[in-house]
Amino acid sequence: MVDKKKSDQKKPEQTKPEPSRHYTNELCELSPEKADEVVGRSLKLYYMVDKFKTTQTFENKLNEFVEANMHILSQQVKLFLKKPKPKEHELTVESVYSGMAGIALLYNFYASKTNNKNKTREKAKQIIEKCIAVLDDKSNSVTYLTGKSGIYVTATEIYKDMGDLDNARKMIEKIVGLLSLALNEKMPDVLFYGRAGYLYSLLLLKKIGWEDPERDRLIRSVVTTIFNNGIRTCVKDKPRKTSLMYKWHNKKYLGAAQGLSGILHCLLLAKTYVTKKELDDLIKPALDYLLTLRYKSGNLPSSLCNDPDTLVQWCHGAPGVSHTYALAYKIFRDEKYLNAAEQYADVVWKRGLLTKGYGLCHGVSGNTYTFMTLYQLTGKSKYLYRAARFIDWCLTTDRQNKIPDQPYSLFEGISGVTYALLDVQNPALANFPGF
Ligand SMILES: [Zn+2]
Repeated sequence: MVDKKKSDQKKPEQTKPEPSRHYTNELCELSPEKADEVVGRSLKLYYMVDKFKTTQTFENKLNEFVEANMHILSQQVKLFLKKPKPKEHELTVESVYSGMAGIALLYNFYASKTNNKNKTREKAKQIIEKCIAVLDDKSNSVTYLTGKSGIYVTATEIYKDMGDLDNARKMIEKIVGLLSLALNEKMPDVLFYGRAGYLYSLLLLKKIGWEDPERDRLIRSVVTTIFNNGIRTCVKDKPRKTSLMYKWHNKKYLGAAQGLSGILHCLLLAKTYVTKKELDDLIKPALDYLLTLRYKSGNLPSSLCNDPDTLVQWCHGAPGVSHTYALAYKIFRDEKYLNAAEQYADVVWKRGLLTKGYGLCHGVSGNTYTFMTLYQLTGKSKYLYRAARFIDWCLTTDRQNKIPDQPYSLFEGISGVTYALLDVQNPALANFPGF
C-alpha cells in the first residue's frame, strides 16, 4: 500500500504481521494534517471524486482481477453443473454464504455490471437451478445467507432480470411457503441462522418487485415475533439494561451475523413495518445499550461472555456494527449514532487488515464496505480513500495466513472479493450483499 517508487526503498507499510488477527496499518499513525495531505494526494489515483467513478487505471486494475477470478470460478461452475443428481441422503443447501447460490448471485451481479449480460446471466440461471435441484427440502434453514430463502430469492432475481416472470412467481411462492417454519418457536432470531435472515429475504423480495395483498401482513408477523422474543429474553433481568436481547446457543451474541446488532439492523431495514413507539421504546434503547458495551479500544465484543478484544470483521465486531449505526443515524438523526458509526470505522481502519484473508465475512473486502457506507453517509473523502486502500490491499495476494474453508464462496472466498471489486467501482451505490 505504498507508491511503487517508495516501496523499493522501505518495507511496505502493512506487512508487519501481529500475533493477533490483523496487520499493522501504519497509515493510521499519521498526524491529522499529514493524513489529510495523503488523502488529497492519493485519492486521485483511485477515484474521480466529482464523478463518483474510479480512475481508468484503477478500474483496469480491478477488472483485471475480476476477470482472472471469474475464470477460476468458471472451472468450479463447470464441475458443479456436470455433477450427477445426488442421492436423497446427499442433498445439500447450496447457500448464498458458502455454496453455489452465492456464485450464481455473483454471476448475476457481474452480468448487471458488464457487457457480457446474456451469457453470464444464463450461466447464473443454470447454477441456481442446479442448486434448487440438489436442495435438501428437509432442511429447516430458512435464512437468506445460509438457508433456503436465500437460494429462492437469488433465483427470483435472476428470473426477473431475464424477464421470466412465471418462474419468478414460483420462487416467491416457495419463499412465502417457508413462513410457518420461520415463525416456529424453535427458530432462532439471528440473521445468520434464523428469523432476521428470513426477514431480510422478504425485504429483498419486496425491493425486487414482490406484490401481494398479503405481503405486508406477512412481513409484519415476522417483525412481531422478533420483537416478542427480544423482549422475553430480557424482561426479567434485574436491573433491566436493554429493551431487546437474543440468544444463540445459550450465548448472548452482539455482532452482525449472530447477535443483537445484526437483528436490530434487519429491524431497521424493515422500518416501514415498525411503529414509532417500537422504534423509540424497543430499538433505540437496545442501540444505546450496545454503545455501553464497547471495549476501551472502541471495538464491540462478540458476546456478553468476556471475549477477548480480537475480532474486527463483518461477522463480529466493529465493521458490521458500524453499518448498523450508520443506518440508525439515517432513521433517528441522532448525532451519537453517527459518531458511533465513525468511531467503529476508525477501529476498522486501524485493525481491519485481517490476517485471515480477503473474504466478505471475516476478511478485508468485507471490511472495505464499512468505509463505503460511511462515505455514502458523510461524503467525507477520507472514507473513499480508506475503501480504496483496503480493496487495493486485497489485490496483493500474498498476505493470507489461512486458506478459507470455502475458498470459492461468496462470503469466505474469491466470489465475495470479486463482488467487492465490481461494487467499489460504483461508490455511490456499493452495498454489502445480504445486509
Ligand atoms: Zn465471519
